[in-house]
Amino acid sequence: MAVDPLIELHDVNKDYGELHVLQDIDLTVGKGEVVVVIGPSGSGKSTPCRTINRLETVQSGTILLDGQPLPGEGKALERLRADVGMVFQSFNLFAHETVLQNVSLGQIKVRGRRKEETDRHSRRLLDRVGLADQAPKFPAQLSGGQRPGVPPRPFRHWGSVAVARALAMEPKALPADEPTSALDPEMINEVLEVMRQLARDGMTMVVVTREMGFARSAANRVVFMPDGRIIEDRAPEEFFTDPHSERAKDFLSEIL
Ligand code: ADP
Ligand code: MG
Repeated sequence: MAVDPLIELHDVNKDYGELHVLQDIDLTVGKGEVVVVIGPSGSGKSTPCRTINRLETVQSGTILLDGQPLPGEGKALERLRADVGMVFQSFNLFAHETVLQNVSLGQIKVRGRRKEETDRHSRRLLDRVGLADQAPKFPAQLSGGQRPGVPPRPFRHWGSVAVARALAMEPKALPADEPTSALDPEMINEVLEVMRQLARDGMTMVVVTREMGFARSAANRVVFMPDGRIIEDRAPEEFFTDPHSERAKDFLSEIL
């Protein structure tokens, strides 16, 4: 299937000091495609997601969104980050804002929407992720969150709020960096189901995840990236049933 490219990384290299985290990365994500990135911990999987919206810069190579080089600063950079709405592992919700405000703030600030229109739009999105009735709550008040004596962790529904917030900006693409890895098991499915629905609706996504069930069922391609290099980039059914590389075979035998 030939699809229009939305995200393109060409020959991208990224170092952190001595550490060469991305090595000659070539990755093109077509419009409406879902690409799942997998690999061992510390192998550089988060870094492409972070370079696409310029949370990180790179030493060499070209990164294009919709055929255009990424803007470096100012309003254009703010718009880029809205266009590529990231969902983080920690979700980064504003603790002192309600769920509704969490979803609304960026729309007002970056997209310049008026308040009533924003509220309507935010409520529609909360409804879409199944959280219409949670709008007035603060993140820490979401059900299932209260656990005396347990250090703070993401509460129930935070993942879905974070997805709704990213969607509120009407992004062109939605990178998600281990959106379920900090969640308790009973909360994982909620987020994966929201993401599956987005995939069906045609959202372009780059998802770093350890959820191989999600990769099998929702991905168009699986990218296997150990040590900062892409060594397999294939359809999930091919990758999981017949991995080509020894590294992938070892990785799969450890996690499956
Ligand atoms: P992964 O997501 O696969 O776990 P990352 O992309 O987060 O890997 O990181 C790859 C490597 O780069 C890791 O060794 C990590 O410690 C290192 N790294 C990530 N971010 C930074 C940073 N801001 N400064 C220095 N090293 C970093
Ligand atoms: Mg990571």
